[in-house]
Amino acid sequence: MPPMLSQLPAGILDVEADQLYQFVDDLTLVQLEGRIKRPIFISILQHGNEITGWQALRTYLKQHLSKLPRTLIILFGNIQAAKHNLRQLAEGVDFNRCWPGVRPNHHPVAKKMADITHFIRQQQPLACVDIHNNTGRNPHYAGINAVKKEHINLASLFSQTIIHITSPDGIQSAALAEFSPAITIECGMSGTADGIEQTLTFLQNLCQLSDLNQMPGISEQQQVMNIFAVVKVRPEVSIAIVGEQQDADFEILDDLDYHNFHQLDVGTVFGHLKETSTVLPVQVTDPMGHDITDQYFSIESQKLVLRKSVVPAMITLSIQAIRLDCLCYLMRPLKQTLNK
Ligand SMILES: [Zn+2]
Repeated sequence: MPPMLSQLPAGILDVEADQLYQFVDDLTLVQLEGRIKRPIFISILQHGNEITGWQALRTYLKQHLSKLPRTLIILFGNIQAAKHNLRQLAEGVDFNRCWPGVRPNHHPVAKKMADITHFIRQQQPLACVDIHNNTGRNPHYAGINAVKKEHINLASLFSQTIIHITSPDGIQSAALAEFSPAITIECGMSGTADGIEQTLTFLQNLCQLSDLNQMPGISEQQQVMNIFAVVKVRPEVSIAIVGEQQDADFEILDDLDYHNFHQLDVGTVFGHLKETSTVLPVQVTDPMGHDITDQYFSIESQKLVLRKSVVPAMITLSIQAIRLDCLCYLMRPLKQTLNK
C-alpha cells in the first residue's frame, strides 16, 4: 500500500505544486478527519503540470482544516512530474491510464492504483473527485463514467457542462465509478484564476452536502454529452500551428480551440495542407477502434474540412499534447436513459 498519512506535513499548505516533492512522495494518501466520517476522496496532480487542483484544495484546507465538515482522503499524484512542471516524466507512465480498467496492466504504478482502489472502496466514499486541467481553451466541465443520478448530480455541482466518458482505459473516475459517484473535473487551462475559484466553490459546496440525492430534479434536467470519436494526427504527418513554423505537412489553425463545445457546420476548416499532400492528416476512430475518418473529414483546396456537423471537445494547440494524446474528441448529446 502507498504511504498513508493522518495529517498534513507541516508547512505544505504554503508551497506551490512544484515544491510538494519536499513534503510527499508520488501517490501519497492523506486522511484528514472531519465531523462526518464517511469520506470524500480527492485526487490532484495525476498530471504534474495541472496545478489548479492543488491551488484550490490548498485554499480550501487553509480555510477549513481546523473544522472540516467531512473526512477527506487526498491523493497526491505525480509529484515528481509536478516538480518539473510536466504532465508525466519522460521515462514514466501516465498515472491516469493506470487505474483498474478493461485491459490488464502490470506496471508497478498500476499495482499501486489497484491497492488504492481497493482501499477507497472499503471507505465507501460519498464521492470521488479527480481534478485536472486542459491545454486548450475549453469551458470548465465534468466527466462522468456512469449515467446515474448521483454521478450527474455530483458533476452538476461543478458545471452545467457534463460529458459521459467511456475511454481511454485506466482512468481513475472509471475505476471508482464502479462503487461510488465519481467524476473527473477539467478546470480550464492550468492555474487560471477562474478555474481555481470554480473548483474552490465546488469543494466548499460538496463538503457541506449530506447526500447526493438531495438535489431533486437536477439530473433529469442536465444535458449530458457523449464522446463518440477521437481525432488523432497520423504519426508520420509533420504538424505545426499556423504562423509558427513553415513547411509542415499539416498546419493547424491557431484559433481552432475556440471551437471547443460548439456545434460546427459542415465545411469548417481545421487546417491547411502542403500543396503536395493528398492524404488525410488525421485519423478518426470510434470507441471500438473502427476508422471512421472519411465520414467526418475531407480535403478541399488543400484544406482539412468537416464533412459532418459535430461538437468537438478538448481541441489542443499544444504539439506535445497532440502527439501524446490527440487533437480532439467528437461529441453528441446523450439520449438519457437514467439508471437510478
Ligand atoms: Zn489531466
